[in-house]
Order: sequence, then structure tokens, then C-alpha cells
Amino acid sequence: MTDRKYCAVVTGATRGIGYAIASRLLKDGVEVIATGTSAEAEYPYGASYFQVDFLDDSSVDTFIEYLKQKPIDILINNAGINKISEFEHIDSEDFDNIQKVNLKTPFLLCQAVIPHMKKNKWGRIVNISSIWGSISKEYRSAYSSSKFGLDGMTASLAAEVSSMGILANSVSPGFIDTDLTRQILGEKGIDEIQANIPIKRLGMPYEIASFVSWLASKENSYISGQNIMIDGGFTRV
Ligand code: NAP
Repeated sequence: MTDRKYCAVVTGATRGIGYAIASRLLKDGVEVIATGTSAEAEYPYGASYFQVDFLDDSSVDTFIEYLKQKPIDILINNAGINKISEFEHIDSEDFDNIQKVNLKTPFLLCQAVIPHMKKNKWGRIVNISSIWGSISKEYRSAYSSSKFGLDGMTASLAAEVSSMGILANSVSPGFIDTDLTRQILGEKGIDEIQANIPIKRLGMPYEIASFVSWLASKENSYISGQNIMIDGGFTRV
């Protein structure tokens, strides 16, 4: 590793968990490239910004070419979408879109950054999965397919590259107070769910970010291939 600043990519850093992770990495002294789908986006002060829509192949290709030119040390695959639906009524296009944003593009981005990490003998990849990538629930088939897949990919990737100094892990948030959660659960749903979380509240984006920051740092020297739940105890009761 050189003594230059680490350089990180955080996808989906315009709001929610990604915004908090990008902000935290900047605070840690890391150079951050934040992504979002809009030309005019809010992203953490001090980051640079790349507009990319994972549902648009040519936009993803352009982003991959850009990443291949950059010395990326840390990749945080955070961007994600969800749509809940009864199994028989899941729209095939929605299913594909969820796999594309949550699984296929993270895979392509890992491929893009690994050559530099191998050359440098150092890298950290954190894939933001979900508790619905380890357990599941009705109406989550499309989302769970993508997140179980993301964790499987992470485990296999870690088996291949950990000996080269590249540590890859999944982090699986439970119910975090973001736009996505409010849109999926609604206020009534949130009240009901909080009663079933041992800590009795939603998590906050910064509570995911602080652990991701550690996992992506050189402090983490022996955790790879894992899937760490940050869920207030929800999946353990
Ligand atoms: P969020 O508030 O909805 O933000 C999603 C981010 O992803 C935004 O920056 C958005 O960019 C970006 N994004 C959306 N569609 C995209 C696309 N087609 N191409 C590229 N980027 C796109 O989400 P969040 O709640 O922070 O969730 C972040 C991650 O954590 C996701 O992977 C999610 O599955 C996971 N997660 C969240 C929770 C939770 O409770 N919130 C729980 C478990 C797992 P724009 O602003 O441009 O749309």
C-alpha cells in the first residue's frame, strides 16, 4: 500500500445508508466517489460524483471504464432497490431490474476494481445485502433472490481473493430509517416492526456506516467472506 489517501467508491450515495457511508469515509480521510442516478444530486460535501443508472447498460459500461482508470482501494456496493409483491404477481421486468441493480451491477463493479486491488495487494469490498438475504418473508422473492445472491457472490469472491489482501464481506442491515424503508413499510408498518426488534427502534444510517467504515479499513485484517447483520437483534429472536 502506498501512503496516498485510500480511494473509495460508494454506490447510491445520494441518500440513506450510502450517503451516511460516504460521509463517514470522508471523515476517515478517504477520497470518495459517490454515485447516484440524477445529474443534479445531493451527495456528501467533499466527495466527487458520478451519475450512473444501473438499469441502463451503456451508463454502467461508461462507469466501468471510468473505474478501470482509477486506483480504487475500497468498493462499497450499496445502491439497491426493492419492490414487494405477491409471488404470482411479481412482474418479470421488475424481477430483472431488482437483480440488475442489486446483484449484476455489483458483480460487474467488483470485476472492474479487482485488477488494481490485486496489483496493490490490498482492497476492501463491502456489499450491502439485507436481513432478507439470510432469512426471508412473504412478498420478498425478487429482493431476497438478489440479496441471497449477493451474499453468495461475496463468499465465493472472498475465497478467491482474500490471500491477495482483498477482503470482501457482506453487511446486512435490518430496518433502517431511510426513504426505502418508509416507502416499503409505511408509518403503520414501522410501528408494528419496531415492537419486534429487541432494541425497539429502527436503526440509523450512521450505525451501518460506522461498522462499514471499520470493515473497509486496515483495522480489519482478518474478517473476510462474512455476512454481518446489523439489525438491533431482529434475526436472533
Ligand atoms: P435509498 O434511501 O432508497 O437509496 C438508494 C440509493 O440507491 C440512492 O442513492 C439511489 O440513487 C440509488 N439507486 C436507486 N436506483 C438506482 C439505479 N437504478 N442505479 C443506480 N443507483 C440507484 O436506500 P437505502 O435504504 O439507503 O438502502 C441502501 C442499501 O441498503 C440497499 O442496497 C438496500 O437494499 C440495503 N438495505 C436497506 C435497508 C433499510 O432498512 N433501509 C435494510 C436492508 C438493506 P438516486 O438517489 O439517484 O435514486
